[in-house]
Amino acid sequence: MHEFGIAEELAALVDRTLSENQGAKVLKVVVEAGAGAIEEVSLRVAFEEASRGSPIDGAELVIEIAPREYHCFDCGTVFPEPEGRNAACPVCGGANTISAPNHDVVLKSVEIEG
Ligand SMILES: [Zn+2]
Repeated sequence: MHEFGIAEELAALVDRTLSENQGAKVLKVVVEAGAGAIEEVSLRVAFEEASRGSPIDGAELVIEIAPREYHCFDCGTVFPEPEGRNAACPVCGGANTISAPNHDVVLKSVEIEG
């Protein structure tokens, strides 16, 4: 399960953002994850493990799922997941498109007490 690695990295990142606010308690951590990048439940469990005993312990983890991206083979455009099933390219109208994996997990914001 790679969620544990991700969670440890996130916890370390949050910890670094706290360096100017030593001793502050973290209330909320917001991350954005690519669709399909993570198992949400696993990340929550892993994050709890990774933050245990740290100022992040008990913080609310908000996971925002980024929309899946599509890639057009005809013109190279990358576009967000279209509505409906017909993933035609919005630029050239081509149907030669494929859903591009987005495996990024990005720390968006950290809310601290006080
Ligand atoms: Zn296209």
